Order: sequence, then C-alpha cells, then structure tokens
Amino acid sequence: MEAPWRPLRHFVLKVHSRCDLACDHCYIYEHADQSWRGRPVMIAPGTVRAAAARIAQHAARHDLARVSVVLHGGEPLLLGPRRLRAVLTELRATIGPVCDLDLRMQTNGVRLDEPVGELLLEFGVRAGVSLDGGRAENDRHRRYRNGATSHPQTLRALELLRRPRFRPLWAGLLCTVDAANDPIAVYEALLAQGPPRIDLLLPHATWDNPPPAPLGPWLRAFHDRWLADGCPVPVRLFDSIRSLGLGGPTQSETIGLDTGDVVVIETDGAWEEPDSMKTTWPGGGATGLTVFDASADEVTEQPAMRRRRSGLVALSATCRACDVVRQCGGGLTAHRFSSARGFDNPSVYCDDLKELITVINEHPGPVAGDLGALPADAFDGLGYGYGDAAAVALLADAELAVNRALVGEVMSETAAGGPLLAEVERQAPEIFDEVLRHPFVRSWAVSCLDGGGGAGCDPDRVAAIAAAVAVRAGLRVDIPVGAHDGRIHLPTVGFFAAPAAEVLVCAGPGGFTLRWPGGRAEVRAGMTTRGWHAARWVTVGGVRVLLEDADPYRDRMEHTPAGRLDADDAGGWSAVLADAWARLAADAPGQIDGLRQGLRAIVPLTPAPDGTLRSSTSRHAFGALGLARTADPAAIAVLLVHEFQHTKLGAVLDLIDLVPDDAAGDRLHVGWRPDPRPVEAALQGAYAHLAIADIWRRRTERGDGRREIYRRYRDWTADAIDGLRTGDRLTVAGSRFVARMADTVGAWG
Ligand code: SF4
Repeated sequence: MEAPWRPLRHFVLKVHSRCDLACDHCYIYEHADQSWRGRPVMIAPGTVRAAAARIAQHAARHDLARVSVVLHGGEPLLLGPRRLRAVLTELRATIGPVCDLDLRMQTNGVRLDEPVGELLLEFGVRAGVSLDGGRAENDRHRRYRNGATSHPQTLRALELLRRPRFRPLWAGLLCTVDAANDPIAVYEALLAQGPPRIDLLLPHATWDNPPPAPLGPWLRAFHDRWLADGCPVPVRLFDSIRSLGLGGPTQSETIGLDTGDVVVIETDGAWEEPDSMKTTWPGGGATGLTVFDASADEVTEQPAMRRRRSGLVALSATCRACDVVRQCGGGLTAHRFSSARGFDNPSVYCDDLKELITVINEHPGPVAGDLGALPADAFDGLGYGYGDAAAVALLADAELAVNRALVGEVMSETAAGGPLLAEVERQAPEIFDEVLRHPFVRSWAVSCLDGGGGAGCDPDRVAAIAAAVAVRAGLRVDIPVGAHDGRIHLPTVGFFAAPAAEVLVCAGPGGFTLRWPGGRAEVRAGMTTRGWHAARWVTVGGVRVLLEDADPYRDRMEHTPAGRLDADDAGGWSAVLADAWARLAADAPGQIDGLRQGLRAIVPLTPAPDGTLRSSTSRHAFGALGLARTADPAAIAVLLVHEFQHTKLGAVLDLIDLVPDDAAGDRLHVGWRPDPRPVEAALQGAYAHLAIADIWRRRTERGDGRREIYRRYRDWTADAIDGLRTGDRLTVAGSRFVARMADTVGAWG
C-alpha cells in the first residue's frame, strides 16, 4: 500500500554553489552529477524571494505549524554577511508570518567568526558543522584546494560555538564515516568538542560505485564505545534506529520508511531531490521544475519524489522481506541505485545497516539509561496511559526528592530554619517526609526561588513546616512561626487566625499550644479552639486525602481556589468523591492503584460562572487535583482521572526529557483547542484525553456511555499522537513513551 501523501517540511536552500574547501569525498563536486558547474555561484535576491514565497505558500496551504529551512551550499558562508543578512531577512519576513520557521545552516565552519555568529544569533539560525574527527582523520579528505588542512579553522569555529553566548546556535557535528579512520579516535575527537549532537553520514555510494570497504564493523565499534560511555551525546543515526525499533519516528533521512519530507532548492531556483541523488547519474535528483514555475505541491507529484515518499511499496523485494525493514527503510534512496536495475535493490550499505540495527536492537541498555530513575517496565506502564502503584510510588518519591532539594535551596538563599528542620527530621523522619510530600511545599519553594527570596517569599514557611512535623509527631519542641496575611498555616495540620505577628507553636504529645504576647490557645483533638481551623481530611478509596481549602499556595493552579469550606460543603465533597471513586472500578480500573498511590489533595475550585466543568493541576504540586464540585459523580470520576494524568506526566517530565529543547518553538494543531499547542502541552493533552477516551470506551461497551464521545476523545488522542511522532518533536525516550500511548489507542476499536 502506498504511503499517504504528506506535505514537505524540510527545505534545503542552496545559497552558494561553490566551496572554499575541496573535500575529495564531496558528493556535490566529486560524484556523477556535475550540474553545479552550470548554476549561479550565488543565489539571486529574486530567487530567494520566489523560494520563500513557495515555502510560505506550502505551509499555509497545508496549515503547517513549522517548517525548517537549511542554508546549504557549497559553503553557505561564502555568501558573505551582507548577502546572508538579506537572505535571512527575506525568509523570516515571508515565512515567519505563516508558521514557525526553524532556520539552520550546514557549514564547514572555516568562516564562522564572531560577526557571523552575531548575525546567526540575530536571525536564530542553528549551525551544523562538518568535522570528520581529529586532525589526522579530518585531513584525510577535508582539505583546501592547495592540500592545506582545514582542521584548525574548523576547531576555531567550534571554540566559538562552545561559548555560552553562541552555544544555542550549535546544532551539532556532521561526520562523514570513512572505514580507513579509527572509529574510536573519531569518536573521541568528536566528543572532545562537546557537541550537542553527532550525525554520522555514510559516504554516498551506489551499486555502480560501491564503497571501498564495509562500514558495519566501524559503526559497531563507534556504537559500542558510545554505549559503554553511557551515550553521552545524542547520535542521530543510532537514536533513530532505537526510536524506530520502539515504533517511534526517525530523526534521519538515512533510515526508516517515513522519510522523504526533504526537498532542495538550488541557486538557480531548481527544485531537486536531496543531494545524495547527485551520486547516481548526471542530472540525478533533477525534477525539471523551478520555484518560478512550480509549487512545492507540484514537486511532490513528480514520479521521483513520489517514489521517494512511497515507503515500503518503493522498496525492492529483498527489502520488503527483510526483518529490519521498518527500521532500515532500505537506507537512502540513492544508495539503492544501479544502472542495471535502477532503485530496485537493497542499499549498497545493506550488510552494514543490518549489522548496526541488529547490534542496537540487541543492546537496548541505553534506552533504559535514558529513563532516569524509572525502570523500563514502570516507564512503559505509564506510557501506555496507566502506571501501577509501583510506578506511581517511584514518581511520588522522585517528587519528594524535588521538594527536599527546593526547600534546601530556599534555606540556603534565605538562611531560614536549617537546624530546626534538620532536628525535626532526625526525630520524626517518616512524618517529616509526609509533610514534605504535601503538594504545595514545592509551590511555595518555587515562588520563593523565582522571586529570588524577595517579595512574595515567605521564609517563615520553613518554620511552619517544622512546626507541622513537630505537631503531627508530638515532639516536645517550641517553634516560633511568623504570621502571613494574619495567619500561621501549618501544612497538612491547619491554620490559626493569628492575633500577633508571631506565634509560638509549643508541640507535645496529645496536642499543642499556641502562644503570643498576652495570649495562648490549646489545641486538642475533639476540642474546638477559637481561631484554629484544622485541616480537612477525607477518605477516598480507602486512602486519606487532604481536602485542601486553606494552603495559601494552592492558588498556583489555573483556576481560583474556593475559600474555606463550611462543614456542609466538606460533607458534600466527601460524599461526591466517594461516589465518584465507586465508579472508577468499572470506568478506569487501570488508574485506581496509581491514584491510591499518588493522590494527596483535592483542592476545591470556584465553580465556572456558566456551570461548565472545571479542573486543573499545577506542575509544581504533584498529587494535588483542583476540582470545582458538581453533583454528578460520573463527571467527577472523569475529572479525577484526567487531572491525575497531568500530575503523573508532569512527574515523568521532571525525571526525563520527553521533548527536546529545540522543540520549544514548535506548535502543533490538536483537536481539542483552536490554537496550535506547544509540543509538551500537546503531549499533556493527548495523555489526559487517552485516559478519558478509555473511560468512555468502557462506558460505551457497558451501554452506559455515548459512542460519539468516546470517538471524539479517541480521535483527538490518535491525531495528536500522529502529530507528536512527526519530525523531531520527541526525544528517544519521548518516542518510546508516545509509542506506548499509540499501542493503547491502536488496540481500541
Ligand atoms: S537491511 Fe538491507 S534488505 Fe533490509 S531493509 Fe535495509 S537495505 Fe533492505
């Protein structure tokens, strides 16, 4: 079956057709196609204008949230700063209003100096630099026309890109593999430059001009050393193979079935297939179309482009029958070429690719290493959309560690309460942990640290935490606590309407006393004490949960929290939560154990004026779910699960990068919102909607729910998963997580 049509997302724009180096492995100058000789040396302003307009047109027509444009050559920096500025200005001005524009450049680096770096910073251009290893390995091919080395000049560029100012510009190193070079020497030389990413390029070859030596052993040696080092830097080729093996996307044109979103625009405006096709025959890669007479849509209709984008159907019978075809994809199209059979061959690197894929599949260690503190089964269980008690307990412990670290940071910044907290922890370590797990400990610490310990920071909260531990444990200790907004609030214990700026909390077995100048109050279980308001606890599913109506930091959620509940309100909450929980056994059996383990507080919210359901969570309050009360327990059950998904995924994201840093500007369209969403927000939404779809699926199967609601949530989730798996939106771990989500949705009808 032919792969579905999809738009082009990556545009390689040739801005200069010559190079200042004369690398003898260069596919542009040294291989079959010599069309560069007849092209303009530099791209003309009118060609840039037409190219930018075509890209913008394509993005607008297909509602693309983001496209990338890679400035390429020859050597793009030969264009010089003035012309480069003009090109970048045109691209930003024309494409920028239509979608996010990811601007990149591939350069040999020899002209990359500080002024150029400033220009790239100004326009947000990320640069990939070509380097084949240390001096000896790089000199094997990457020399000037007179034979002089280019290595020192490239290293100067990398020194610049390592500086904090320019570091964000650096996309990574591109290394062309040569079996004659020692793979370990190359690995060490590349790593020594501290790149954010390494890409390995197999030198372009065909069955007519096969590579001089197999590359499998070389790739394996490089991979094994990288693996033994704990995968210290992403390697695009290896990460793509791992991701594809887990059902995720490829990050590389070299590997996988789902490639072919790339097109080249030459300096004369010609639309071409990727440069690797220049290795096949004279004119290889030409489409016969230009940006002056054809749209990008028309380019995709060209037979060569259709073949490139046809997935499995375009491959040879050998590839289609291959065990690893879904990871390999037959390699690069150009590498399949022979004059006898055209592209009806496996890759000329078939044995090498198979060897590498097999090695990577047999050594999944680094994937587990990417998962931080989470074992693979816990990670996968959460990825499927659930997560058992053990998995959620791991998340809760990780969040406790975050809270501890943040409280420690506040204490070191404000010099507040250190010895006191250490002492109560020493005397009552389990209760100390219980109090520190309170979701809004982190909210408080973050607001303190974000404000630099200044306005808005309440360092007395450290004393309040210590006092809460002392009271709960019955320790004999007196702790002065400063009042804020007329109250002292002891997390998980209650609050006191303080008649003075400071109140001494005198803890002890059986109760505690509050003292202030000229007054005192006794607080004992079962007694009413004027001004004291005990924390409200409810039992949900056999677990005690705080009905948090008093913590001053609960307002960090999206919606306004309700005020202190009266006894009737609290009773109403208790009843509706019990009813909702009773429904979960049938509605969401896979969520119950996780909820029991991770749910710590329900925060009553003010109802929406229009009566619609309202709920929220905060990334800085693990285990706290904000809900506006409704009388319908079935609706509350959905809200509980929905918000708990957010709190779980927030904790996973605290541990593991699922979304790469460079996806920060990316947006994708999702079914549940009219505006395009950042990648992490789309992932959060998809994760929550997966769980809601599951509830409605079960209700529908029981005859207790509406099928169209199930379908709506399922389709939103499935579409968002597809969007998330497009391009480079996920890390390897993120690909694995979303692949598990896709497994769950794919198993539904
Ligand atoms: S490993 Fe070889 S046979 Fe298998 S898909 Fe790749 S090129 Fe084709």
